[in-house]
Amino acid sequence: MKARVLALILAMLALLSDAQTTTPPTASNQLANVPPDGSVRNFDGCLYNDEHFHIQDFKADGPPVSAILTMMNSHVCRSTLMGLAVTVAHDPLVDRDFAPVYYTQTDGQVMYYNAIQDVLVAHKSLAVPDADRARVDPLMSAFNLKDARAGDYIKKMVHLYPGVWSGFGEIHFKKQEFSEKIAGGPPSLYSPSIDAIFNVIGEMGAVAVVHCDHDTPYNLSLLNEPAARAMIFHGTRPVPQYLEAFKTFLGRHPNVPMIWAHFMGNGRGVQPYPEHWQYLDDLLADPAFRHVTIDLSWGPVIAPYLLDSPTHLKMTADLIRRYPDRFLYGSDQGATADWNAVKGSYEVWDPLWADLGPALTRQVTKENYVRVFDASRKNMRNWERTHPDKIE
Ligand SMILES: [Zn+2]
Repeated sequence: MKARVLALILAMLALLSDAQTTTPPTASNQLANVPPDGSVRNFDGCLYNDEHFHIQDFKADGPPVSAILTMMNSHVCRSTLMGLAVTVAHDPLVDRDFAPVYYTQTDGQVMYYNAIQDVLVAHKSLAVPDADRARVDPLMSAFNLKDARAGDYIKKMVHLYPGVWSGFGEIHFKKQEFSEKIAGGPPSLYSPSIDAIFNVIGEMGAVAVVHCDHDTPYNLSLLNEPAARAMIFHGTRPVPQYLEAFKTFLGRHPNVPMIWAHFMGNGRGVQPYPEHWQYLDDLLADPAFRHVTIDLSWGPVIAPYLLDSPTHLKMTADLIRRYPDRFLYGSDQGATADWNAVKGSYEVWDPLWADLGPALTRQVTKENYVRVFDASRKNMRNWERTHPDKIE
């Protein structure tokens, strides 16, 4: 397990260092010419639309968006442009001369909400040529979930950069090795502050990509240890610790189209319970959660849990067949313009795409994106028109 985690960290570091190099332009530029304010609808020349793509790392660095657009040519029709909600500080009292670049690399409470992440996303998006503007959906994320005033911050950011934002994300609630390192303490699923913020997002009718682990890490491996079963669970079966609390939150915000990341909150140490597919079915069947969709992102980390046996592959594909308009593809790649790295996140799902067939794959990887993000864009532009305040 340790070796696997180390390999993942090394792979991530390789990705981040790739981000510093320039990707050579691809031969075809055919997707560059799209209507400046229309929706990109010709999807035959690309592989997918990317609902979950970070253009900056935990130092707020990333390749120029022009390099990302070049990478997208012939490969990705449309993409979200996310920064990261937090940056990682270097605390020499914790890490001496080692300056961490990734959240797993430090014990310090060194993650802090940093508005420069959003400012950079807006600044870079404004520099995108008009002809390419319809290909990207910039998302805002760098606001503190413990601050009930963050809704006002969101409005200021929309007024500061009108016409820029397509929605919000990735917004982190519970995330292993991440939320507990946020300066000032982890976001709470029980704080009125999260409702204050999502009331504003709901008022805008904007989409939000949300990350909430369904459980604390390694519960399932503890289940396999007889001593732990006796001491910790007292013979009863554990249930995912955050699932109900996060669903309760989601249920309070039906006006926010929510995209629950990573196939409903899986991660490195947070694996799906045998009942995970049933939990998902319950959520998707419930009219109270009609506004919730599920993303297939961070594939290299989570796909192995979901496609590791013919049974799991079938359960995953059957769920998508049952609710074909409720799933979206995202790469969750970070701060890179290297297609060879980015395409790996798509290819890891190849057994699923093969099982689903071309029409359903197209729906999950292309069409659902257009429906969700076009509606969100339109709603945000409407909100701007009805709230014409200027920052002066
Ligand atoms: Zn995430």
